[in-house]
Amino acid sequence: MIKFDIITIFPEIFKGFVSESLLAWARKKKIIKINLHNLRKWTTDKHKTVDDKPYGGGPGMVLKIGPLYRAVQSLSSKFQVKSLKLRRRVILFSPRGKKLTQAMAKKWAKYDQLILICGRYEGVDVGVADHIADEIISIGDYVLNGGEVAAMAVIESVSRMVPGFIAKKESAQKFDHPQYTRPEIFTLGKKNLKVPKILLSGNHKKIKEWRSKLTKSTDL
Ligand code: SAH
Repeated sequence: MIKFDIITIFPEIFKGFVSESLLAWARKKKIIKINLHNLRKWTTDKHKTVDDKPYGGGPGMVLKIGPLYRAVQSLSSKFQVKSLKLRRRVILFSPRGKKLTQAMAKKWAKYDQLILICGRYEGVDVGVADHIADEIISIGDYVLNGGEVAAMAVIESVSRMVPGFIAKKESAQKFDHPQYTRPEIFTLGKKNLKVPKILLSGNHKKIKEWRSKLTKSTDL
């Protein structure tokens, strides 16, 4: 069973996400485990400070290395994995990171534990990227308010590759071909949108060929 440990200052953001649909089902079936951790738990001052002003000046605040270091230490030592290097990944989200791909999702699905670090504000002290994280990951060339949405993308794409999560293995990693459902003809203004004849033919071999032509498969 793969375990996701999410480090965030806004754990509430994940509550609905992990309690609905496939993720809720997979957690119940013990196919995946998702733990939410509030970074403030690893602060040492009475105000539970997680951020500070950037050296050199500039707007906004930066997440401090200390609490993040203690968080990763504690989540790693509580969960012993077979071989440290291979079975655990510490992932930091940053718009400057490597772009998340299906190949990464497939690879990480074999790990025991993924520790996901969600940045906020102006980002994270660079020491975390340089000395604590194994991977620095972006979900695209745009800037989000925080790493939480990126963490959700990793959780969904990785979970889909965990055996047992998707009933039909073949649908787990295909980039969709076009899908049609009823009605057979839908009138949209002056247009009639029709289901391609081949899909109504019952010829499964032909349908398969037609679909595979239109499928953008990752083929990993
Ligand atoms: N000024 C920062 C951006 C901070 S955005 C910079 O230039 O790097 C705040 C946090 O949101 C980041 O620390 C990161 O964890 C997350 N984030 C923003 N955009 C992201 C993206 N495209 N992919 C993954 N994480 C992102």
